[in-house]
Amino acid sequence: MREAYKRNWITARDGNISVRWHDRDHFWITPSAVRKPDLQPAMWKKIGIEEINGYKATRVLPYSELSSNLKPSGELPLHFGLQKVIPRGIDTRVVVHLHPTYTIAAMHKGLSIENLSFDFPELRRYTAVGKSVPDVLPISEELGEKSCKNLGLYDTGDLKYDIIGIKGHGVVAVDETPWRAFEHIERLEHICKIVLASGK
Ligand SMILES: [Zn+2]
Repeated sequence: MREAYKRNWITARDGNISVRWHDRDHFWITPSAVRKPDLQPAMWKKIGIEEINGYKATRVLPYSELSSNLKPSGELPLHFGLQKVIPRGIDTRVVVHLHPTYTIAAMHKGLSIENLSFDFPELRRYTAVGKSVPDVLPISEELGEKSCKNLGLYDTGDLKYDIIGIKGHGVVAVDETPWRAFEHIERLEHICKIVLASGK
């Protein structure tokens, strides 16, 4: 989050991350409203995954004293949608949501960022970009549902794509480590910067 802030991909309180180990019945998410450059490990929120009447639901679990007065990120529905089922063979799943400048600018201009991989094979080689989610309200169930759908989420928890854009808002990237998820964002952001610089 500090690196994202340094790069101007979020303002101080924006963005969120969740992490789940495949064999645990809970995941971790960054707290809401905390200045991300000041984020400490003890501030993370621990979210239990419970089954109620056949449906999975979240419950905030106690963790540290520092985290007890904080709320989980408002984008919890998005993270829960992607963390509730971890596919076979995956040790850890990390979901990163940021607001990278040029990627958002490209969507704002009306470009289909999912099609950039046709012109830039280096992007396609390492990062699969799904269709962008249209304008939806931030921190809504709808944002969560549409993001999961466009990332190509299967019932098994597998994903067809590594990253998607949310128009007028940001991106969601998923991988097995924070830095790998970050790299999907970095790669797409770099290509969007090139495209916008070209004026095409
Ligand atoms: Zn956001």
